[in-house]
Amino acid sequence: MLKRREIFSIFTSKNKKEILILPPYNNDRSLFDKICKECNQACKEACKVSSKIYQEGIIWQKDGKPYIDFTTRGCTLCQECAKACEYDVLKVQEEPNWNIKFSIDVLKCLSHQKTMCFTCKDVCQSITGKKNVIAFVGMFYPKIEKDCIGCGFCVSACPTYAITWSER
Ligand code: SF4
Ligand code: SF4
Ligand code: SF4
Ligand code: SF4
Repeated sequence: MLKRREIFSIFTSKNKKEILILPPYNNDRSLFDKICKECNQACKEACKVSSKIYQEGIIWQKDGKPYIDFTTRGCTLCQECAKACEYDVLKVQEEPNWNIKFSIDVLKCLSHQKTMCFTCKDVCQSITGKKNVIAFVGMFYPKIEKDCIGCGFCVSACPTYAITWSER
């Protein structure tokens, strides 16, 4: 049987070119290509270990490079991946500095099609404690605002896979 992350990639890959989401807490993205191939992927293991209440971490590996998979859950911004990186590709710092930003695909979003749905907003509020990171116009038309911290928890929560991302 297909795992949730495999099903998710089928839905998403049809509609957007693949963007490798890099682990947070990086400042120089060229280092992922220069250094990570030679490393034992300590960030991946640290993410797994930090995910005590989940079954697996969200850092995976492709062509020797670590990447984030938001299919099953989001990033808790725990910084454990940055603490584990011995090569300063990831560094403990205040801001995660994601290489992507999130938005909502209006064609896939139930609420943009006039069916009530607040799932992403509820999840976002439970993570950020803020009401307005995903802003609605009345009951409909949600939009992700600039206060988004990039945690990605809304991605797996959305029933129609409408949360999408692009490079920033
Ligand atoms: S621990 Fe650091 S150097 Fe190693 S794969 Fe992860 S980001 Fe790259
Ligand atoms: S900050 Fe924590 S949850 Fe997020 S990728 Fe790093 S180790 Fe994983
Ligand atoms: S959870 Fe998905 S379908 Fe529901 S309002 Fe948010 S983006 Fe739209
Ligand atoms: S990625 Fe942004 S919009 Fe989605 S739950 Fe996290 S803070 Fe909210």
